[in-house]
Amino acid sequence: MTDLLFAVLYTVPLVLILYFYLRRHRRREAAHVATWQESLEAGLTESASLHPVIDPKRCLGSRGCVTACPEKAIGIIGGKAQLVNPAHCIGHGACQTACPHDAIQLVFGSEKRGVDIPQVKPNFETNVPGIFIAGELGGMGLIRKAAEQGRQALDSIARLKGGKFPYDVVIVGAGPAGLTATLGAMEKKLRYVTIEQEDSFGGTVYHFPRNKLVMTAPVTLPIVGKMKFGEVSKEKLLEFWQGVVKKTGLRVNFFERMETIKPVSGGFVVKTSKGEYPTRAVLLAIGRRGTPRKLGVPGEEQPKVVYRLIDAEQYRGQQVLVVGGGDAALEAALACADESGTRVTLSYRSEAFGRVKPKNRDRLAAAEKGGRVRVLLKSNVKEIGQKNVVLEQEGKTLQLPNDAVIVCAGGVLPTPFLKEVGILVETKYGTA
Ligand SMILES: Cc1cc2nc3c(=O)[nH]c(=O)nc-3n(C[C@H](O)[C@H](O)[C@H](O)COP(=O)(O)OP(=O)(O)OC[C@H]3O[C@@H](n4cnc5c(N)ncnc54)[C@H](O)[C@@H]3O)c2cc1C
Repeated sequence: MTDLLFAVLYTVPLVLILYFYLRRHRRREAAHVATWQESLEAGLTESASLHPVIDPKRCLGSRGCVTACPEKAIGIIGGKAQLVNPAHCIGHGACQTACPHDAIQLVFGSEKRGVDIPQVKPNFETNVPGIFIAGELGGMGLIRKAAEQGRQALDSIARLKGGKFPYDVVIVGAGPAGLTATLGAMEKKLRYVTIEQEDSFGGTVYHFPRNKLVMTAPVTLPIVGKMKFGEVSKEKLLEFWQGVVKKTGLRVNFFERMETIKPVSGGFVVKTSKGEYPTRAVLLAIGRRGTPRKLGVPGEEQPKVVYRLIDAEQYRGQQVLVVGGGDAALEAALACADESGTRVTLSYRSEAFGRVKPKNRDRLAAAEKGGRVRVLLKSNVKEIGQKNVVLEQEGKTLQLPNDAVIVCAGGVLPTPFLKEVGILVETKYGTA
């Protein structure tokens, strides 16, 4: 009797624990499978930069990496860890540190898709003496690393000798790397100019989704001292940078795009969309997103044409044309269509939306059915007028009333430019 009681007392809780454990495990795995399925359907199976490769022979499914990944990019399927949301992986590397079985290696690119990484020396100088690279362009994502590299690259530039130019350094890009380098230039009393193609600083951080939780780590900034963030919202981080700009008098030339770098004796002339800067050195802190691709049609220079959606509210009650067929275009069209009185047309040159998240495709289909978005497939913009746009669709010309155009046609990546300047670029196919 006592034995039976004992067995019941111990076995029942054990069975219950096991039951709930297995049920939770199954639910988690189902969620990971669904995420992976979604990535597959959207064709988003490759990470843009540094990402983990998991050795299934070593992986024992401890979940260490799953818990550690701040972007929720890893899951467990069939008892093994797997990158289930590759597009979300930004190379934190927390998974590798957390793995108790040494099963994770961090690499660039994959067998199928190469990632171009410029060759940079430990002092951040490229093979072209006088041209330096800091931040994500050099391969290392993450705000903290970009900021640290910006500071260190500037230290190296400050040590350069010779060359009588109006500028000691032209810093290109005002993301975390460019901003920190600019602080370094100010601290070292260098003659600098920082140019930024957009109208805001913060680089990629500025484009994070609203309220995104940014994971970073403390970093020491020239002049300012320690930036003590760990987890912070995108808005708070940008606010902090705004405070730094105000406090230090840091100058950035916004809306100025670097176009070419011409070598001259002992230095360079950097040609931008607004002028020319003779300089001893150049620091490229331009990240990897590139420059927004333009349509190249008459009227595109008007201020009503933009290359990203900042705030859908500003288009309330307007006639908006969104151009593009990726997630960014679909999301911009849907966000504008949610505003009251906004009439949205989405123009895409292909016959179907191929590589987009199924969720966006479904939402678009519903919006089109509900008359909130007009979709024009196989169409091309021909001209942008002040109050209208002209499109061509399968041989027919369409003229639509228009107040604003949002072009989401991807970016022109920096690799061809780097090669043109003579910087050596290595294409990595799944190697560190
Ligand atoms: C969705 C997402 C989430 C992320 N989350 C995190 C996170 O939580 N924590 C973290 O640490 N990192 C995160 N990252 C990575 C981080 O944003 C980048 O590593 C970091 O911003 C790189 O800084 P950077 O200064 O090298 O480049 P960028 O921030 O890309 O800045 C480059 C700047 O150069 C400008 N530029 C480019 N070309 C030209 C030109 N020809 N002329 C003039 N200006 C030019 C660009 O407009 C841009 O402002 C995330 C990235 C993404 C995409």
